[in-house]
Amino acid sequence: VVEIGTPERAIITTCAYCGVGCSFKAEMRGDELVRMVPHKDGKANRGHSCVKGRFAWGYATHKDRILNPMIRDKITDPWQEVSWDEAMRFTADRMKGLIEKHGRQSVGVITSSRCTNEETYLVQKLTRAVFLNNNTDTCARVCHSPTGYGLGQTFGTSAGTQDFDSVEQSDVVMIIGANPTDGHPVFASRLKKRLRKGAKLIVVDPRRTDIVEGPHVKAAHHLPLRPGTNVAIVTAIAHVIVTEGLMDEEFIRTRCDWDEFQDYAEFVADEKNSPEAVEELTGVKAQTVREAARLYATGGNGAIYYGLGVTEHSQGSTTVIGIANLAMLTGNIGKPGVGVNPLRGQNNVQGSCDMGSFPHELPGYRHVKNDDVRDLFQNAWGVKIDNEPGLRIPNMLDAAVEGTFKGLYCQGEDILQSDPDTHHVAAGLAAMECVIVHDLFLNETANYAHVFLPGSTFLEKDGTFTNAERRINRVRKVMAPKNGYGDWEVTQMLANAMGANWNYAHPSQIMDEIALLTPSFAGVSFERLDELGSIQWPCNEATPEGTPTMHIGAFVRGKGKFIRTEYVATDEKTGPRFPLLLTTGRILSQYNVGAQTRRTANVIWHDQDVLEIHPHDAENRGIHEGDYVRLTSRAGETTLRATLTDRVSPGVVYTTFHHPDTQANVVTTDYSDWATNCPEYKVTAVQIAPSNGP
Ligand code: SF4
Repeated sequence: VVEIGTPERAIITTCAYCGVGCSFKAEMRGDELVRMVPHKDGKANRGHSCVKGRFAWGYATHKDRILNPMIRDKITDPWQEVSWDEAMRFTADRMKGLIEKHGRQSVGVITSSRCTNEETYLVQKLTRAVFLNNNTDTCARVCHSPTGYGLGQTFGTSAGTQDFDSVEQSDVVMIIGANPTDGHPVFASRLKKRLRKGAKLIVVDPRRTDIVEGPHVKAAHHLPLRPGTNVAIVTAIAHVIVTEGLMDEEFIRTRCDWDEFQDYAEFVADEKNSPEAVEELTGVKAQTVREAARLYATGGNGAIYYGLGVTEHSQGSTTVIGIANLAMLTGNIGKPGVGVNPLRGQNNVQGSCDMGSFPHELPGYRHVKNDDVRDLFQNAWGVKIDNEPGLRIPNMLDAAVEGTFKGLYCQGEDILQSDPDTHHVAAGLAAMECVIVHDLFLNETANYAHVFLPGSTFLEKDGTFTNAERRINRVRKVMAPKNGYGDWEVTQMLANAMGANWNYAHPSQIMDEIALLTPSFAGVSFERLDELGSIQWPCNEATPEGTPTMHIGAFVRGKGKFIRTEYVATDEKTGPRFPLLLTTGRILSQYNVGAQTRRTANVIWHDQDVLEIHPHDAENRGIHEGDYVRLTSRAGETTLRATLTDRVSPGVVYTTFHHPDTQANVVTTDYSDWATNCPEYKVTAVQIAPSNGP
């Protein structure tokens, strides 16, 4: 029992873990944070929270935090602590030297979906207005970039269509490739509450997660597909809806392009797309697919929620398109209780994408080739903006190995641990001449860095995060930055050290600039956020209080666009050497690579990654519960403890990726989504064997 005493005041802020974006009261005694209490007026969480938001904030004062800038000439040299001025001089000289010697395309940035909108906006501005290229990418590349592409193509914008309240009006909910109980716990609670009141649930997932069958919930249908066959399943569902005449024809005629629909309908109606034809491929009984399709199409308001089990595939974008097709086919778009909703993994994935972090888009999802948009930003920033898309994260690493990409500013992202094919990432980083890591801790990527700039936690920041329902929430400073500067100030110092003349005095001024240049944020300001509590974009003159439901009456792009979804097998094949398929996910108490959650005092965080194996596969290999197993793929190998469970089907194994000693991404491949290069984390051909330990 810990005595916390009586709090004297509370500051309302937003959780920095998952994309639910729960609102909290940070209760203070003097300058000390004593407790995080879920805020009952928070519109995303309505007074609820999970263990991470409530208890896992101790990392902010953890002894491992680096509080002073450090530099070194070579990565084999010891770190040298320096002043901020010296760190900026060193960094600016290196980056300018690389640009002079190798050209402006030789440097770039990777920003993080953990950062605020204002920080993210400044980092992409640094790239475009100071480095003078579009080599800016975000860790959303490795999670929801296919959402950006797929929803952009079909609906016209990259965002979930509903607010979380909407689930209370759903009659049928389909969860595809997501495990909300662990990944988005507060949304899962709201969903379960609705299910207890009679809504029906369909789950498409290789694993029998708790949402399929767990406390207080049992899905009407579970489609335990073979990893990598999402497109075949989603198209088979569409086949049933089209061939059994379960479509909402009036919606399609009035809201969608009819010619494109006819072409799509002809494609899905082909017998090769029937549930029977793909049963062997997907491993899901045709009758289950038919019953699920009928339920979704005829069960009332149908809402789809999906996660990284959809996007992190070689056909991630195609599956997102297929999901949008399902919603349009059944008229499940443009009103409460329906829609297509990506469950964003990190707190500000939505905002990171909104703010122009992708190398082809300026803030507000506007392509860099658009002359009018470039003119708008050029006039505001007083520079010429490159009209060619820049490098994505994997392109940067490839170019580094080839010798043409030399300098990287990496803010809030441990790419060595979190990106696929660790050996390739390491080779790319090792080949660069200036790697700047801006982070809280000396992470794995920092082993290859020449500059370490200390970052600040969400408790030390003013700004905004945008959650999975497009809700812009205020993040308020609870304590002074322990490193002396907020992250936006560090980016501003670097820009100015390289010759810019930025004079932002507070993040609210950055938001004012965002609002001025981005129509969907035109009505957003810190004052309005204080007044309304939060705002869902688009927010402008037409919708001054924001937009809970999108695409009412018309899609953002005008008519909804149906697109064929041809299944193409991944190049990652099983065979005699690698006969099993590995897929990955999270547990409730941990978060991504665990940099924060592992640095809290509570013992529940001190678990380990384990490998789930079906008892048949374990028995065939002489593996018992708790044994060490060696997990090998074409990319590499690692060692984990085994747990035997029929949550996974025979032929499939599953693990989490929270612990650096396990390094699950040593085994994942560099295959990626055809449209966006989002890595195919969810499908790796592997072999397992008993081991004596790491
Ligand atoms: Fe934080 Fe997500 Fe948990 Fe809410 S559900 S407290 S946003 S981690």
